[in-house]
Amino acid sequence: MTRTVVVTGGGTGIGYAVAAAFAAEGAQVFITGRRQSVLSEAAARLGEGARTLVCDATDPDQIEALRDQLPTTVDVLVNNAGGNRDLDTPAGPQRLGAVGLSGQSGPDDLHALAASWRANMEGNLVSAVLMTAALNKQLAPGGAVVHIGSFAADRGAGSYGAAKAGLNSWNTFLARQLGARDITSNVVAPGYIADTEFFRDKGGEQFHQARVAETMNGRAGYPEDIAGTVVFLASPAARHITGQVINVNGGAVTTR
Ligand code: NDP
Repeated sequence: MTRTVVVTGGGTGIGYAVAAAFAAEGAQVFITGRRQSVLSEAAARLGEGARTLVCDATDPDQIEALRDQLPTTVDVLVNNAGGNRDLDTPAGPQRLGAVGLSGQSGPDDLHALAASWRANMEGNLVSAVLMTAALNKQLAPGGAVVHIGSFAADRGAGSYGAAKAGLNSWNTFLARQLGARDITSNVVAPGYIADTEFFRDKGGEQFHQARVAETMNGRAGYPEDIAGTVVFLASPAARHITGQVINVNGGAVTTR
């Protein structure tokens, strides 16, 4: 039977690799994102059967509209949409691990701080909650929900890390709720993944090499490394795995 798979942020990077892996298995794949041009280009590469739906995963109205365009049964939901707003600040990735209070003082900066925290909470945590809640009734018994977290959850990475840590916590709650209907819920937590828009033009070679040096296997991760784990978690072989955070990070050491 053809499975229906929804991948948020499926037009680029990890989400695209996940969508491609499911499409290769013959699934009917729906990819979402905020840019139609990106989605259309991705769908052309995914091949016949891939569908695109423009939807901001933080916007309840857009998500309700999305739900109405999806089939009545969804087998797999991959909450992949996300990003780190703080990477777009001038200091960029150097602020990873420091974003929060560092450099933020005085009443004016509280507005910037609030904006950063709200954006990262909405983009990485609230988005997954809203998408799952919207599709809840459509999720089929025997199905799976997989959230893309991050090793940043354990690395003291400010608002982004806190949002991903919140995702881990909520996943435990969700797994109990969905478990009664034979639906699994797990987080796949990537380490540093090269070749996506996330760090593109932001980290540079020095940043790249520093992340590789943190791993046990001396390599960067790539989107396909994450896709394989997501597909496994949605497979019959993984029916008894739920409520877990699966680290896919080359053994990168957690630094606090
Ligand atoms: P990308 O920036 O390539 O992917 C993010 C995707 O999410 C884009 O397609 C983007 O499309 C979409 N997106 C972002 N915000 C929204 C939104 N509000 N609504 C709908 N779609 C949205 O980077 P990655 O592939 O690397 O990131 C994918 C996931 O992996 C993210 O959750 C990220 O936090 C996580 N991750 C990445 C790591 C890395 O090193 N790259 C490490 C750990 C975790 P559009 O802008 O068109 O909406």
